[in-house]
Amino acid sequence: MRRRTVPKVRVPGIWQQLWDKWRGEETRVVRFGSTAGLAAPRRAAVIDGANDARIPRELPLLVLRYPRSKAGRRAASTLENAYRHLATVLQPSPLEVYQEILPYLPGAVVVILRQQDPAGCLGHARPEGMESETTRALASEIDTRVGEIDMAWQQIAQWQPQPLASLALDAWAVDEVERRQDQDLRVRVAMLTVLFHEMEHLAFPERPEHEVRRRSDRFYQQVLAATLEERGQVYGMEASPSPGW
Ligand SMILES: [Zn+2]
Repeated sequence: MRRRTVPKVRVPGIWQQLWDKWRGEETRVVRFGSTAGLAAPRRAAVIDGANDARIPRELPLLVLRYPRSKAGRRAASTLENAYRHLATVLQPSPLEVYQEILPYLPGAVVVILRQQDPAGCLGHARPEGMESETTRALASEIDTRVGEIDMAWQQIAQWQPQPLASLALDAWAVDEVERRQDQDLRVRVAMLTVLFHEMEHLAFPERPEHEVRRRSDRFYQQVLAATLEERGQVYGMEASPSPGW
């Protein structure tokens, strides 16, 4: 019995690590364009009817891994909503913008969501063969290629590659509710932009960053411009440099 008092001093650190490892994470699976989980059936029917033809079946299944916390769940829900729903109604559609890469994407993509990336990157596509153990286990389980992407949700939410467009959105919001909705929309668009940017890296690992970047910047700009245009304001599009991915 006495021996137990010795490890007692050291065990908590070890248990804390295991606790973090085992209990610290949640997972959810998200299918592109799927309306499953939307509360109102009538709305779901409308979305299905309008967009079914535009949704290629080969778009990867996302497996989201995120911290078991309120902020982690919120980030996962934001990305889930963006991939399930927003991506199917955006103008331009990411399916058109990214049409060329779609056939080269893996069957599933594990997205590891973290609050912050220590290096300040918004996202990162792991090179083939450098995926985590669980991703490799999943790939052999479902017998298909599984890609892996890291995304830093707080940095993505703060990222403003087009500060003028964001300001314009803000200026045109009629009230606080609309301002918050715009902010929410902007974050979801930014999440999708980073996701598709990283998926292009998965599809074409050799493609230079500036080329991948040009497409994702353009997608982001066009979506914001279309949103502003709906409100009757024309926004002059120009590329502006933004921090590393
Ligand atoms: Zn990149």
